[in-house]
Amino acid sequence: MSLTLTVDGARWRAHLRDLADRTPGLVPVVKGNGYGFTRGRLARRAAWLGVDTLAVGTYAELPDVASRFDGSLLVLTPWRPFVPDLEPALAKRVVHTLGRVEDVEALLARQPDARFVLELLTSMQRHGFRARELWAAAERLRSLNTGRLEGVALHLPLAQGSHLGEVHRLVNDAIGAGLRGLDTLWVSHLTSSELATVRQSYADFAIRPRIGTQLWLGDRDALRVRATVLDVHAVERGDSFGYRSRTAPKGGHLVVVSGGTAHGIGLEAPTGDHSLKSRAATVARGGMDAVGFVRSPFSIDGKQRLFAEPPHMQASMLFVPAGAHVPRIGDEVDVRVRYTATTFDHIVVTD
Ligand SMILES: *Cc1c(COP(=O)(O)O)cnc(C)c1O
Repeated sequence: MSLTLTVDGARWRAHLRDLADRTPGLVPVVKGNGYGFTRGRLARRAAWLGVDTLAVGTYAELPDVASRFDGSLLVLTPWRPFVPDLEPALAKRVVHTLGRVEDVEALLARQPDARFVLELLTSMQRHGFRARELWAAAERLRSLNTGRLEGVALHLPLAQGSHLGEVHRLVNDAIGAGLRGLDTLWVSHLTSSELATVRQSYADFAIRPRIGTQLWLGDRDALRVRATVLDVHAVERGDSFGYRSRTAPKGGHLVVVSGGTAHGIGLEAPTGDHSLKSRAATVARGGMDAVGFVRSPFSIDGKQRLFAEPPHMQASMLFVPAGAHVPRIGDEVDVRVRYTATTFDHIVVTD
């Protein structure tokens, strides 16, 4: 009765172990919906991997990982003065991200022993210091002489060409700023060959690659998502159905499956192109997309089916044209999902 993620446990764990073994200094990223697995489960996995640090996206995400993983907790969203103070036991484990001089001052005034990384603004242009601001931060840190600098952090865009030029420029800025105790670089989205080059170029530095997608979702063949067929109704051309009383453009079956907007199931892009010519061709072939049906992420017997109407909160209605195999109530159908945007009813990890 549900949307279920089944994980081939042996295969998934082998992939996690392999990536961790090939990635010294790995910092697993455990944020958002936990890449579909939930943050709590991934926090326990990070502990199993034996890493010393994991990264969460936000301060709100700390509690459910902190009770399942007992190492350091890097928060990726930069600290701001409106972030509530942490309770002392948690505060010792948290590594803050700082991106403005005034936040360096404000955090260290509130928590003089705070652990932090300084984020450098990359071509992503999201958060962080520009070179001149970094010099100012370094100067403030020298005069304050409090806090614990855990390194500098670079959040690079997803690769389109090489990141190396940008990495060298930014790291040289950081070195040039004269940050006392700087010995660690936290990076994201470097290819393994870029990572190898960075390790070689900055052999005196510890390199901490922050990885989420490639770790947790790096072996898609270990993952399978299925929905349950909840109901099936035969319809004739002209029969009305659904919330908006659409009429069936031809005979077939309505198949109600588990999985709706509450799970993150959304409308897929309409099939194909929209030119009149292609629509006419689809109509000629008897295609349903031409009458306004939209492709769904559900497939039955390997064939992706169309939504009969937009997904409901917890179920979706598909149209199966006459002549196609009709699944039975209780059957399971495959679903293609975006893991980072999906909430599963059940997650089954096989032994
Ligand atoms: C999300 C995030 C990552 C991990 O990204 P993936 O593409 O999931 O590996 C790394 N660094 C920062 C700052 C992030 O926000």
